[in-house]
Amino acid sequence: MTNFSPSLDFAQQLDSQDPLASFRDQFVITDPDLIYLDGNSLGRLPKAAAERAKHIVNEEWGQDLIRGWNKGWWEAPQRVGDNIGGLIGAAPGQTLVSDTVSLNLFKLAASALMLQPNRKRVITDTFNFPSDLYILQGIKNLLSSGGRVDPHDRGGSYRDHTILRIGATDDDITPDLAALETAMDEDTALLTLSHVVFKSGYLYDMRRITDLAHAKGALVLWDLSHSVGSVPVRLDECNADFAIGCTYKYLNGGPGAPGFLYVNKKIQDKLTSPIWGWWGQKYPFDFSLDYEPTPGTRRFLVGTQPMISLLTMEAALEPTLNAGMDAIRAKSILMTDYASFLTDTWLAPLGFSLGSPRDSAQRGSHISIRHADGYRVNRALIEEMNVIPDFRAPDNIRLGFSSLYTSFTEIWQGFDRIKRVVEEKRHEKYPKQKLTVT
Ligand SMILES: *Cc1c(COP(=O)(O)O)cnc(C)c1O
Repeated sequence: MTNFSPSLDFAQQLDSQDPLASFRDQFVITDPDLIYLDGNSLGRLPKAAAERAKHIVNEEWGQDLIRGWNKGWWEAPQRVGDNIGGLIGAAPGQTLVSDTVSLNLFKLAASALMLQPNRKRVITDTFNFPSDLYILQGIKNLLSSGGRVDPHDRGGSYRDHTILRIGATDDDITPDLAALETAMDEDTALLTLSHVVFKSGYLYDMRRITDLAHAKGALVLWDLSHSVGSVPVRLDECNADFAIGCTYKYLNGGPGAPGFLYVNKKIQDKLTSPIWGWWGQKYPFDFSLDYEPTPGTRRFLVGTQPMISLLTMEAALEPTLNAGMDAIRAKSILMTDYASFLTDTWLAPLGFSLGSPRDSAQRGSHISIRHADGYRVNRALIEEMNVIPDFRAPDNIRLGFSSLYTSFTEIWQGFDRIKRVVEEKRHEKYPKQKLTVT
């Protein structure tokens, strides 16, 4: 780890040595005083995306009208999917842009379970994003036996699915890997985890965990929402079966930009989507009355995709593709190491503790800092210090660092303002009652 200093000079020196520093100019930054540490929830607006959005609305929608579908809109889910594939180690033909992260999890997890009717167990962890857990619960509810129990069925196909959630080790930062390893058995159909977990930022070893599951014949689905665009991912090399991910976080695709899904070539044509729609039909413009799935991942499309946000997101990928994942990761590690140093040096004496792994090999691009009054500190930061982090219950202030536009000076200023809030007790005037969106 670099020998850090808490001086402003030092932060400025890190900026002057930053090979990605110029990328900040490719983003719309209207308030230079704003310390934006929430790019892991909603990335900043790339100038290229703003330009593209204007073009899509005025030229493509405004002038081309329905002809747009034959000028690249129809193929966009696969074309943009392959671009994202380049960031996650996926050869072409395996990544598809579609719908939301939650819906993509539904489609892929349900199809994984339908493929293996004799295996009834899904394993995940308590670190997973709640929507992921709800989707799994909904699938279990849908597939559970109800009135179908057949006492003569010795194949076990009437058994209900179960969901096992692996917990945390004592520190509440790291999942209990030993428990995960022990739990994996011949009844496990699917293991699904967030590659970088949303609260502590813990980063799973994709290859090791995928191998563990495969050794028991289970399939593996990775949620890349917090790793795509921040951590190099090698899906093909790790032989992952499925992945899903988000484009409005580190990929800067814009609010509500569609998600993506990845299905390994080896299993694509064995899978059935649980939702049959005309965009996943083999010859949609034959308007045949019966469904026949199209080959490959496209069978996981359902209906018309949101072209304005999909094509805007396509342009938003440019800075990430140009910077390359290795440079992005190198800066990200330096930023999270630096932020951990400032947490220890300035904030620990004020009642904060680091809620993220100290080893950068086990950490994504955000850190959590924990404080008993975290919610109110977060509110004071937003309302009077022009700092935007976010808050994740019970006590985590989450700070996200984007290699493309976060500067070291900005991190220094952010921590300086956090320190001032607590030193000056500014948070104490806010109610403990939380606002709807934190
Ligand atoms: C952000 C995020 C989501 C978001 O799901 P949407 O369906 O796009 O709202 C899902 N899973 C994880 C792990 C996330 O971080």
